[in-house]
Amino acid sequence: MRGVWGSLWLLVSSLAFAKLPALSPLPLPANTVEVGQAVKKGWVVYEVKPGDTLAGIAARYGVDPRHIMWSSNLQGDRLQVGQRLLIPLVAVEDRPPRVPPGVEAYRVRPGDTLQSLASRYGVSVLELVSANPSLESLDRLVAGSVLYIPRKAKGLVVSLPEGQTLVDLAARFGLSPVAVARANGIQDPAELRPGDLVLLPGIQAKTTYERLLAKQEEERRARLEAERRRQEELRRLAEERRRQQALAQQRARQVQQALAQQRARQVQQAQTQRPQVRRVSYQEGAMRWPLSGFRITTYFGQRGVFQRFHTGIDLAAAYGTPIVAAKAGQVEVAGWSSVGYGFHVVLDHGGGVETLYAHMSRIAVRAGQWVEAGQVIGYVGSTGWSTGPHLHFEVRVGGVVRNPLAYLP
Ligand SMILES: [Zn+2]
Repeated sequence: MRGVWGSLWLLVSSLAFAKLPALSPLPLPANTVEVGQAVKKGWVVYEVKPGDTLAGIAARYGVDPRHIMWSSNLQGDRLQVGQRLLIPLVAVEDRPPRVPPGVEAYRVRPGDTLQSLASRYGVSVLELVSANPSLESLDRLVAGSVLYIPRKAKGLVVSLPEGQTLVDLAARFGLSPVAVARANGIQDPAELRPGDLVLLPGIQAKTTYERLLAKQEEERRARLEAERRRQEELRRLAEERRRQQALAQQRARQVQQALAQQRARQVQQAQTQRPQVRRVSYQEGAMRWPLSGFRITTYFGQRGVFQRFHTGIDLAAAYGTPIVAAKAGQVEVAGWSSVGYGFHVVLDHGGGVETLYAHMSRIAVRAGQWVEAGQVIGYVGSTGWSTGPHLHFEVRVGGVVRNPLAYLP
């Protein structure tokens, strides 16, 4: 076969190359890297450590990061600590694979996109794709991987398969071997080895590009759909939050209502707990209220602030409210008490019946004086053991305290 190839080659070169000026190799740009065909020489199972990046690992083993992605079945270049990678080791060639003149090997940097590289190098995305037909996506470039930039030469860039010749390649794409050889600066067929990159001039990876465009559109739709779902989920969560807030407010209102009802019940209970008393008839000694504009705060017999057993009733009223005699009688006591009554008055109504008026701010009568029912005998105050202006009113019969309500209207 070598003989056939050789004679064909000689024919090609004698026909075409004789007229071509000698192609001098172009100076390679600074960021040119040498890449080899991934000839499997062995595998390294690598466990990802903190701080590892795919590009870093690839550089350490001298392989293209995309080869690690493919062999390790990675979807992206994001790694997880402890993850196992399968790194295909490539054979060290005695010379780096040949890159066609006019094509620049570019090491992808983080943030690079096909679009940005295309506009930076003044080529179209289709031309970029054609120079890199194994690209997997129009959007995602893998940092650290190599991208071929068709700077001076446009066409499809493929690596020469094992067992194939430039003529085979040219024939597959309907190109003249001469044109392919010229485009690749080839003078001697022995220069090309499997793995060397061959530029097929004028061929565009339209199918690849269209496939990638379709994929890009699909991914864009998937992103939109994911975003729509996310928004829907956010709306659902917001709705749920509003519902929960409304529920919480409703519960708070219910608690408030329950508390209000409880308070109302307590007030009602306090009122119904008001002792049932058999009121005495006027003939039996009925009395009049010693105050007007009051509120009963403690009943007879209730546990009071200063007593276990309340010996009278407490009538809360404004400070200075006049206190009148509940019944006609004689002033028995008018003065200061040493047992908590403060300024107080005791009236003797005859027949062993007495009334007592305590905590006065001022006394208006003197001991021994006769008073009529309704006559002012003093004023509401808070003297003695008292927590606020009120009249403590007692009725005693035969020296024993009685429920004043029995005697009052
Ligand atoms: Zn009292």
